[in-house]
Order: sequence, then structure tokens, then C-alpha cells
Amino acid sequence: MRLSRYFLPILRDTPKEAEIVSHRLMLRAGMIRQQSAGIYSWLPLGLRVLNKINAVVREEQNRSGAIEILMPTIQSADLWRESGRYDAYGKEMLRIKDRHERDMLFGPTNEEMVTDIFRSYVKSYKDLPLNLYHIQWKFRDEVRPRFGVMRGREFLMKDAYSFDIDKDAARHAYNRMFTAYLRTFARLGLKAIPMRADTGPIGGDLSHEFIVLASTGESQVFCHKDYLDFETPAIDTDFDSVEGLQGIVDKWTSLYAATEEMHEAPAFEALPAESQLSARGIEVGHIFYFGTKYSEPMGATVAGPDGTPAPVHMGSYGIGPSRLVAALIEAGHDDGGIIWPDEIAPFDIAVLNLKVGDAATDGACEQLYKALLAKGYDALYDDTDTRPGGKFATADLIGVPWQIIVGPKGLAEGKVEIKRRADGERELVSLEAALDRFKGKAA
Ligand code: ATP
Ligand code: MG
Repeated sequence: MRLSRYFLPILRDTPKEAEIVSHRLMLRAGMIRQQSAGIYSWLPLGLRVLNKINAVVREEQNRSGAIEILMPTIQSADLWRESGRYDAYGKEMLRIKDRHERDMLFGPTNEEMVTDIFRSYVKSYKDLPLNLYHIQWKFRDEVRPRFGVMRGREFLMKDAYSFDIDKDAARHAYNRMFTAYLRTFARLGLKAIPMRADTGPIGGDLSHEFIVLASTGESQVFCHKDYLDFETPAIDTDFDSVEGLQGIVDKWTSLYAATEEMHEAPAFEALPAESQLSARGIEVGHIFYFGTKYSEPMGATVAGPDGTPAPVHMGSYGIGPSRLVAALIEAGHDDGGIIWPDEIAPFDIAVLNLKVGDAATDGACEQLYKALLAKGYDALYDDTDTRPGGKFATADLIGVPWQIIVGPKGLAEGKVEIKRRADGERELVSLEAALDRFKGKAA
């Protein structure tokens, strides 16, 4: 992408309305624009990051055996009357009437709709297990939308729904998602710790919130420090192995970890003082087994091996990709701006032309830019006639992991500069060496 032809509305001043660093940086870097309280447009740079997060989420969902669908944002109230949640949901639900005065709503979640899909097609245990997910916008009329996309009213959610013949099978479905979540957050460069969460009236121990530690987090959390060093499940994890996945989940639930609602002070305080970690956290994912809560009232039954129909056992599993954009910035930034993990960065490499109009500089930049594109990189070429200081500031602000800085002075000695955004390390190398350094995106 040539910056001169891109749409990157950078704000030079710090927006006053933004209370936390991720919100400030997203506005300054031209990633989002607020349209109403808690409702945002995603501008090109923000959308790139959001799509990259979705790609990782999708890959790990697919790897675990979940199948992608796409359900609508607008739902009929009738389904929610069947489950009893239409009246129970309260003011967070945006209720709408269509031209025929029918009650509709903007979906805050999709248990009812996916249960309706399931009951329309699946009748036998032979078609189980099944896990359907989608990545779709949700609307919740939050009392206090704040912190930008961290707590929006309209926000993106990956929500998956598992269907199983009994509780044991459902437990395995839960473990699959638990493991997929560990892999997903690790790939995003985040340390997310699964913490016991409230299961409400259904009870049981099958609900975990995945929490990223950050000083600006909205929840107070308590856990054992050793979680920070736990190993992520490998890429070749066998998602069909019941014992294997149970082993992973047992390990990741073996130490104390709880949010404030589930906190048991005596158990936490019994840990050695140096192992106690009490911090603020951001909820980036939430998984939940709820048995037959929806399948029973909505008549989603499957015939078992003996032919007797029984309500299917379900779980739901949410991740917030739009919140994750903010969480990633909370976890990765410095005074200069955002520091993206390589896989999520909106661009892989920025080429900064320090003297547009100088034939040698233009030529070297064009050569670099085209070679990087040919090697499959998302390259951003700053070919604007801004002064060098502004170019450095923009490149740092938007957090591109690598910068190749090209100016007439260096070129006179045959050199360009490579800068690593994360630690600011710089290196003077020949143009050929710079080209050779970036071997290709897959390499
Ligand atoms: P919270 O406790 O933060 O209000 P929740 O428990 O209501 O969230 P879930 O229903 O568990 O949220 O939703 C699944 C995921 O969707 C959350 O883990 C979070 O990542 C994301 N999410 C929920 N509400 C919002 C929101 N208002 N803005 C952005 N992301 C959200
Ligand atoms: Mg939750």
C-alpha cells in the first residue's frame, strides 16, 4: 500500500474523551471512529487488524473441529419467547418492530437461533458431536459503554455452540474449546489465564473466563503466578483425544485462578506470598456448559442408540475480536505508539522514503517495496512528502513491526536502515542485505 493513496487519518493531538491508552491510540492511529456512544466505524487500519485477529480465531476454531456458519444480526422475538429470555433479558437487548409490527431484536447472543437451526436438521446421536460457530456483530445496550471498543454497544463476537448426546461428551466439547482458546490467545501474543467463572443457576464447574492481565482491566482477578509460565498446547494437539485434552484442561485448572465474583480469599491467601498474583484483568473469552437449558424448552432433542429422544447437551463459547484489538494495544505499546505482535500487525513492513523526489531514494524505495510485495508481505510504502520526523512518528504510532528507512545520505554509502519497532534496535545494511533479510512471508 502506498501511503499517498491510502486512507490513514492520523490525529496529531491526543483525544480528550479517551480515558485509556488503547482508546487514545486507536483514535490517534486512525483505526476507528465513534458514530454514537459505543458504536464505531472501523477505518482501514483498524479493519486490517480486526481481520487478522479473526483469521487466527477462525484457524484455531477450525482446527478444534468447529464449523463456521453465519447467522443474521436481526432475530425474531418469537425464538426468545420460546426460551423464556425475551422478557428476562432486560434493557441490554435492543428491541425493534418491523413494518408489520412484529417484535424483532438485534442479537446480543445466539443460543436460541442456533438451537433452532439444530432442531430443524439434527435428529440422531449419529450426527453428534457438532460445534457451529460464527463471527458476527452483536448489540448490547450496555449501561456504560466506555474505553472505545473495549466495552462497546455494537461489538464483534466469535460465538460457538456445541451439541452433544450427554454430559460426558459435552465435557469433551468444552475441553476442545478450552484448548483452542489457549492456542488462540497465545498466537495473538497474549497471556490469557482461564479463571473459574460463575455458572449461575445451572451450577457445576464448567465455566471459565479467559483473562488478560492489564492495569486498565475492568475486573479484579486473583491467581497463581505460575500460570504465566505455563506452556501453550502444541499445534499438533489431537482434538479427538479425550484423555489428552482432559490432561491439558486439568493442568490449566490445577492452580488457583478466580475473578472477584468467584474469589475465595482463604484459598488464595494459603498460597505462598510470592505465588500470589492479584491484578486487574480484561475478559477476552468466556466458555460455558449449560446442559439442556435451551434444548429442553425449545424441543431440540436427539434420539440415542436405543431410539429414545432426549434434549441435547449444549455449551457456548465466546471471544471478543473487537475487544481484543484494544486488549492487544493495552498489552503492547510505548510512548511512541502501538507495538503489534507480528501476526496481527496491520502491515508487516514499512518502507520510509526520507526524500521523495530524489531519484536514487525513490528508486531504492520502489525496488524494496515491490520486492516485499512479491514476497507476500503486507508492505506500507510511505511515499508522501512529509518531513522525516513525521514519517518516523507515524510509523511508530501505527506499530508496524519493521521499518526500512531509506534516505540519500545512507544510500550514498549504499546503505539503508532497518528498525525493529518493538525495541527500537537499528541496523545499517546494504540494500541487497535488506532485501535478503525478508525472505518471504511463509519463510
Ligand atoms: P462482560 O463481563 O465484559 O460484560 P460478558 O460476560 O457479558 O462480558 P459474554 O457474554 O461472555 O460477555 O461475551 C463473550 C465475549 O464477548 C466476552 O468475553 C468479550 O470478549 C466480548 N464482549 C462482551 N461484551 C462486550 C462489549 N460490550 N464490548 C466488546 N466486547 C464484548
Ligand atoms: Mg462473560
